Amino acid sequence: MADPMTTALTPAGHVHSYWAATVGPGPDNVRPLPGDRTVEVAVIGGGYTGLSAAYRLAGTHGIETLVLEANRIGWGASGRNGGICSITFGKVPLARRIAEWGVEATRRALEIGVEAVALVRHLITTEGIACDATANGYVQVAHRPERVADLQARLALYRGPLRYDGVDFLDRERLEREGHLRGPSAHGGLWFRDVFGLHPLKYVNGLALAAMRQGALVHERSPVVAWGRDGAHHVLATPTGRVRARRVIVATNGYTPERLHPHFRGRLLAATSNIIVTRPLGPAEWQDVGSLRPQCYADTRDLLFYWRRLPDDRMLFGGRAGLVNTPSSLRRRRRWLEAQMAAKFPVLAGVGGEYFWYGNVCLSYDLMPHVGAADEDSTVVYALAYLGNGVSIATYSGGLAADLAAGKDVPRDTPLTAARLPRFPLPLLRRLYLAGAYLVYGVKDRWL
Ligand SMILES: Cc1cc2nc3c(=O)[nH]c(=O)nc-3n(C[C@H](O)[C@H](O)[C@H](O)COP(=O)(O)OP(=O)(O)OC[C@H]3O[C@@H](n4cnc5c(N)ncnc54)[C@H](O)[C@@H]3O)c2cc1C
Repeated sequence: MADPMTTALTPAGHVHSYWAATVGPGPDNVRPLPGDRTVEVAVIGGGYTGLSAAYRLAGTHGIETLVLEANRIGWGASGRNGGICSITFGKVPLARRIAEWGVEATRRALEIGVEAVALVRHLITTEGIACDATANGYVQVAHRPERVADLQARLALYRGPLRYDGVDFLDRERLEREGHLRGPSAHGGLWFRDVFGLHPLKYVNGLALAAMRQGALVHERSPVVAWGRDGAHHVLATPTGRVRARRVIVATNGYTPERLHPHFRGRLLAATSNIIVTRPLGPAEWQDVGSLRPQCYADTRDLLFYWRRLPDDRMLFGGRAGLVNTPSSLRRRRRWLEAQMAAKFPVLAGVGGEYFWYGNVCLSYDLMPHVGAADEDSTVVYALAYLGNGVSIATYSGGLAADLAAGKDVPRDTPLTAARLPRFPLPLLRRLYLAGAYLVYGVKDRWL
């Protein structure tokens, strides 16, 4: 069945989101691939990963680079996300990281998260990307009183063995006094210093312009429909031309076609994240919610809800759910998100969403993102599987993929670069795993 949210696009070719409605003009003169070309590196995918890879390849390494994007720049998750630029990557819990990877690698992963956020800030500043970046600050709020102890245990790990001081615990009284949150869901939270919010579609457009200024060629509406070899060259066919390239970077994350390249078969699982954005809320409504300035939040659920007070005083509220995208299931998901928002913030009962949209995030079997090269062909490089985070880590990982494609080595100090992208056992059952995970996590989030 046709996907109603991807067939019903704006005139500019994006899903009908709050971001598409407020982005303003995008990069112009980005044309489909005009005939055949030979370049050093071809990049498949025009989101944060592909464009930051192109920026670094063309800029730092001076390598001829061409990006092929099937739709518009930022059409995928990079133009649809919540815009929370976070230090977190991967879904492996902190205590398990320490137990399985050791303190050094866990600490290094945290440093990489902080470096990734700093890289986004740096790009915004040096490339003059006007993307409504907010001040730093993010709170992860316990969704049940029992989860406060977990947050305090994590604080002890951050402050102790991980030596990270950019985090603090806010009890109910501080959450309210410092203008974060009040009401029934304000049990306590971890405040993080190194996280901020931005307009994701403005940011990805700015990245595209920056990559083009460095000399990268970018082509929209140029889907790779076939991938062959001609001696040392890869040959990527699109409807309007072919690209011959010595190396290819795969930057397609949750939109990777199963048949794109044999290496990725059975290794990725797309899941859906959904967002509503309300009308601008009045001062009394915000007073009741307790968020006195634009800031980013999430809760402690496994299937977490995330929310932001946007610069124009709307509430953005998002969460992961959904196995099919039929019109009726989309309507149910929209109503479900509205009800969840109202359950958290009773003053918003009946407010509903002026906008609703969804997009694909990408899961790996080991719950970690991966940057590396295909086992059987080191000229195929990839950066993907960001598991619902990506504003910062996709930008950062695109740079690592660029270094690999330029023939440089990258530090193998965390599973991001050191571990192989694993295959799912019985990959044909991946959708069933997802259904099972939604069930188990849903029960756990509700009762534990
Ligand atoms: C609703 C939602 C909310 C989110 N919220 C946050 C958040 O608040 N903070 C955060 O850090 N992360 C968030 N994420 C995750 C984040 O958006 C992604 O991890 C990140 O954008 C991934 O970037 P990417 O460039 O790797 O992939 P994408 O931006 O998805 O880009 C992949 C591109 O590949 C293209 N493509 C696919 N196949 C082909 C082909 N054959 N030929 C050419 N092009 C092709 C697609 O058209 C697509 O544009 C969210 C995601 C979603 C969906």
